[in-house]
Amino acid sequence: MCGVFGMFSLSEEAAPATYLGLYALQHRGQESAGMVVSDGKKMRSHKGMGLVSQVFEEEALAGLPGQVSVGHVRYATQGAAHIANAQPLMAVTRHGPIALAQSGNLTNANLLRVELLQTGFTFQTTTDSEVILGLVAAHEGPSLQEALRQAAQRLTGAFALCAMTHDRLIGLRDPLGIQPLSIGRSGSAWFLASESCAFDAIGAELVRDVRPGEMVIIDREGLRSEQFAKGVREAFCVFEFIYFARPDSVISGKTVHEVRKEIGRRLAKQAAIDADVVIPAPDSAASAALGYAEASGIPYDVALAKNRYVGRTFIRPTESLRQLGVQIKLNPIAASLKGKRVILVDDSIVRGTTSRKTIKLLRGAGAREVHMAVASPPFSHPCHYGIDVPSQDELIASGRSLDEVRRLIGADSLHYLDAEALYEAIGVEGGGLCTACFGGGYPTPIEDADPSFPEFLEGEMVPR
Ligand code: SF4
Repeated sequence: MCGVFGMFSLSEEAAPATYLGLYALQHRGQESAGMVVSDGKKMRSHKGMGLVSQVFEEEALAGLPGQVSVGHVRYATQGAAHIANAQPLMAVTRHGPIALAQSGNLTNANLLRVELLQTGFTFQTTTDSEVILGLVAAHEGPSLQEALRQAAQRLTGAFALCAMTHDRLIGLRDPLGIQPLSIGRSGSAWFLASESCAFDAIGAELVRDVRPGEMVIIDREGLRSEQFAKGVREAFCVFEFIYFARPDSVISGKTVHEVRKEIGRRLAKQAAIDADVVIPAPDSAASAALGYAEASGIPYDVALAKNRYVGRTFIRPTESLRQLGVQIKLNPIAASLKGKRVILVDDSIVRGTTSRKTIKLLRGAGAREVHMAVASPPFSHPCHYGIDVPSQDELIASGRSLDEVRRLIGADSLHYLDAEALYEAIGVEGGGLCTACFGGGYPTPIEDADPSFPEFLEGEMVPR
């Protein structure tokens, strides 16, 4: 995950819009936030650990004059959560200064890191993004744009990049389009963002998605496009539709909320559970549960009150924090549950910790039966493209039967949505999506799985 945002304007200050854009993308990462702004001569940066509202106070924004920007909210996958790894990264290269913000994980970062180390390049962070900067810096070509293009051709995996020079904003999306990146516009100002909800936050219009393998260059001349690579297929992350993206975002021309409702309708037809009430696991399953209730005719109710000031539990980095998070995050509403047969709709079950605790909460509050309906197929394989699911052992559906999973989470029945029904609801054939977490079949080589890489590549340099 992670969220990226970029702005190019001839007249408007970039920092306030970048702040609001990042604020709208906060769900994509809560560990650090940062932005770099250029006034045409100087690039200034401000980064910090925590939420956008904690990192940027009025004073910090006032110290970032200029009309070109890139910004980032981080969710740590490659590289630990500390300030050295906060983005955007900045470097002065033979092609001039550059700032870079990335969403997604490369699957050949270690391979490239070793190659760069052998040429004498040193690293200040353990992020994939610094590898990209290294490739740009090493490139002998005529311009930064050409260096970025050549660097992008060496990358394998998922990446949506917002890069900037003093007077130019550049966006790149991986050749398979695994990560989302969209273009927005308001008057003469251009924007790039991981999701279109960031454009709504600043009153800009969604123009279109950046195409897989496309580089867009935005400067005084307007927007130009180059195709730096062509994938053999598209492989957009199916989990953007299921869980990651905000429901008000528009991806591939589809409103995420509408897609999720359709997913819920198909789940209802498939599961056909006899029950009294449909409730969503807050908040990401709300649209799917609504669709479920609509198609089944079973009333929808809210039976779990959420403390909105706690981050998503799935995103918390450690198991103990996740467990603690669930305890303080949800409170059941007994009046909606007492004596009822409940269908709990969730978008997915990853480790199963949250489902188990939620079902226990519902029973504790008086639910007579709890049936679990999951708006996706079993999550059985780790993601190498940006979600922090490091090993297969942690995935509850990996190597277990449906009934074993049901017993572990403590549900009366368990129903997953079939893959085909999911693809039909999204309106994209399975071949146009990355669905690797449902059964392997990764759309790129996973070169970083090479066990011969030196151990220090995994090491961290943690500032005190
Ligand atoms: S493996 Fe799953 S979560 Fe990762 S990019 Fe593919 S679909 Fe998305």
